This record gives sequence, C-alpha cells and structure tokens, in this order.
Amino acid sequence: MKYDKEWDVIVVGAGPGGSKCAHEFAKRGMKTLVIDKKQEIGAPKRCGEGLSMRWIRITGQKPNPKWALQEIRGAVLISPRGKKVVIDTSKTGQTGYIIERKMWEKELAAEAIRSGAKYMLKANVIDLIKEDDTVKGVVVERDGKEEQYFSKIVIAADGVDSRIARMAGIQTTIPLTECDSGYQYEMANVPIEDPYKMELYFGKEVAPRGYIWVFPKGKDIANVGIGIIGSSEKTAKFYLDRWLENNSRFKDASIIEINAGVIPVCAPIETMVANGLMVIGDAARMINPIHGGGIGSAMEAGIIAAEVGANAIREGDVTRDRLMEYQKRWHEVRGKEFERILKVRKFFEKLSDEQMEIIADAVDPKVLVELGHGKGLATVVKALIKASPSAAKFAMSFLK
Ligand SMILES: Cc1cc2nc3c(=O)[nH]c(=O)nc-3n(C[C@H](O)[C@H](O)[C@H](O)COP(=O)(O)OP(=O)(O)OC[C@H]3O[C@@H](n4cnc5c(N)ncnc54)[C@H](O)[C@@H]3O)c2cc1C
Repeated sequence: MKYDKEWDVIVVGAGPGGSKCAHEFAKRGMKTLVIDKKQEIGAPKRCGEGLSMRWIRITGQKPNPKWALQEIRGAVLISPRGKKVVIDTSKTGQTGYIIERKMWEKELAAEAIRSGAKYMLKANVIDLIKEDDTVKGVVVERDGKEEQYFSKIVIAADGVDSRIARMAGIQTTIPLTECDSGYQYEMANVPIEDPYKMELYFGKEVAPRGYIWVFPKGKDIANVGIGIIGSSEKTAKFYLDRWLENNSRFKDASIIEINAGVIPVCAPIETMVANGLMVIGDAARMINPIHGGGIGSAMEAGIIAAEVGANAIREGDVTRDRLMEYQKRWHEVRGKEFERILKVRKFFEKLSDEQMEIIADAVDPKVLVELGHGKGLATVVKALIKASPSAAKFAMSFLK
C-alpha cells in the first residue's frame, strides 16, 4: 500500500496511547499517520486487561460486550498469611472492566481511522529525520526497504522499549529496580468465586515488591499474572509457576495464552518534548507506580499532547519551548498524583510480611483503595507505628 510522504503528525506506536492521540489529532483536522511494527494491532497483548471506568469514559466509549468482558466492582486483597480484605467499590462508582484488549485496541484504532487517521503496520521506525536540531520525520523499514516520511510533529508512543525518544536525545533509561517484570497466563476452567472482584495476592515469598493477580474474564476464564521487582534473581515466571503448583484451585485449569513484559513503575521521564517531538504513555514512563496500570494514563497523555500539538502546528511553532505546555499540563493533571503514588510504592516495598499483616488488620479497606490514588499514606503509616513502634524508625520519614 502507498502512503503520502508529508504529514502533519506521525505517531510511532499504535498502542492505546498512540491510537487515542492519533484520534484527537485527526479530529482537529490534522493529517495523521500511525506507524506500528506489529502486523496486528493489540496482539500480542502484554496486559492483565484491567481498565477502570474513568479511563473508558475519557475514550468517549461505552462498554461494549465485544471487548468489555467482565464488569469489576471491587477487589479482594489477600495478605501473606491469607487474610482477605474485601473492597467493594460499587457504591463509590470506582468500577471497571476486564477487557479483551486485542478487540478493544483495534476498536480504538478504528475510531481514529474514522476521524481521518491512516495506519501503516509491519513498519519498523528505525531512525528520526532531523534538521537543525528539530525532528522532521521518521525512517521506516517496510517490506525490506527503507522509506522516509516527513511531519511537523512526531509522537513517540512506542511503549516501554521506547527508542524514539532516545533518538531525539531524551534520557529514558531506567534502573532494573524501578521496573517490574510481568508474567501472565490466561487460563481456562478457573474456579471463580466472585467474577465482579479482582484478586490480588501479596507477600515477599509470593511476589517480591509486587503481587499476583487473578482477573476474571467471564465465568471461568481468568488472567493469572504476576509483577515483581525487575532486579529479582528468580524470574517472575518462577514465582507464578510455584504459586500455581501449590494452589489446588488451579488443578483442573490450563493455559490458553502466555504474556510477558516489563512495567516501568518509576517516575516519569524528566523531559517529555524536543523540537518537533512529544513522548507519551509507557515511552514516557507514565504508569501508576503502585499497581502498574498504564493504559488510561497513556491515552490521557495522548489527548493532552494532541491538544497542545495541534495548536502548535497551527501557530507554526513546534519548538521544544512551545511543546513544553504539554509536559506542564500533564504534570498538573496526573504527574503530581503519580509522585504521591511513587511514595506509597516506596513505603510498601520496605514492609516486612509481618508489617503487611498489621496493615491488613488495622486499616479501613476504603483507605487502601485511596492509596492507589496516592492518598491516605499518613493514615496507614500512623496505624503501623501505633501497632508496631519498632517500625517508627523507617516509617516516620513517610509522614513528611
Ligand atoms: C504483564 C503486564 C500486565 C499489565 N496489565 C495492565 C492492566 O491490567 N491495566 C493497565 O492499565 N495496564 C496494564 N499494563 C501496562 C499497559 O500494558 C501499558 O501501560 C500500556 O500498554 C501503555 O500503552 P502505550 O500506548 O504507551 O504503549 P504500548 O501499548 O506498549 O504500545 C506501543 C506500540 O509501539 C509499537 N512500537 C514500538 N517500537 C516501534 C518502532 N520502532 N516502530 C514502530 N512501532 C513501534 C509497538 O509495537 C506497540 O504496538 C500491563 C503491562 C504488563 C507488561
């Protein structure tokens, strides 16, 4: 298939961030090309497929049974010793879905295409075209040939492995300790007690610095996955397999899909723009550092980037200084919340299993929900210090 050489915007990566961003640019009349190295949008998935309603709402979508497979109205948190803390969010409206991400991502792309965006698949962006320190387009490897495409702005939406931002001179490297290693089986014939609740299992022996999840995808299908600290000597697969083998509940279940991937649970990158370039989503490390969800924040960043980018193109000024408005707005909308959540993550990774038990016993489940938004840490810290004064030494610093 032939493509024009000149575009207003080229989006590298047709994940949720890239497709939502392309949709918003195209809606604003910008000639938009999305390029992805994959041959099928959405596959292979690297995802537990949990998506909250607040993020579905920002897409303008209504949950569609084609991809919104299981409504979620809460969670069960299971402590290292097996204490269950049940969280019911049906009354607070914090609901969501376990989605079929392959279907949903294609739908997101279809919406962008209906607004005028074009998609090029099986095309690997191998370099940026630069002139006078400004990004002017991309070099693509497609059908064994190198091709050049030009644009006023390039969006780096190329996910956790992001090479595009680095090509523009932006620092994106993350230490292993700031990444989680994720591994997941989609399994069939899993006994599910309450399909409306996600199950999260904690403990140093279960999942160091992370958790095991069982996300129901209907009556007996579930995503059973794990995220652990990236510097762990033993692999995420080792911990997940061991947990499954020791859990008779899964004896009649079996795997129908295997997924793996890295989750950057770190602070976002310091600089998200260059002359003619903006970085969004996982490429900019915009992930909730406590639970590793990043679909919603990637789309949200895509929307802000398109609003700022389209205006910048109309004004004829795509310099770093002009595009910086995107970074400032993102920090206002989400960055500050993520900073607080990172503090929550750093507190939790210091806890022993014993201290986790104390928290499971002493803290109201509603407060535990708020931690996912970076709120309520002081309440948790105080409860821990009250029940275990020896924790005061490290915990006090988290009250500041
Ligand atoms: C095991 C696991 C479970 C997860 N579970 C959840 C969950 O339940 N809920 C949630 O919200 N988040 C979850 N996440 C995180 C979530 O998947 C990401 O945050 C989300 O996909 C980020 O979207 P994105 O658009 O930024 O990047 P991506 O979805 O990674 O998309 C990037 C795209 O760029 C393309 N690309 C990369 N380089 C190039 C190139 N050079 N040329 C052309 N194309 C390129 C890739 O092919 C890809 O399609 C999970 C992650 C993992 C690993």
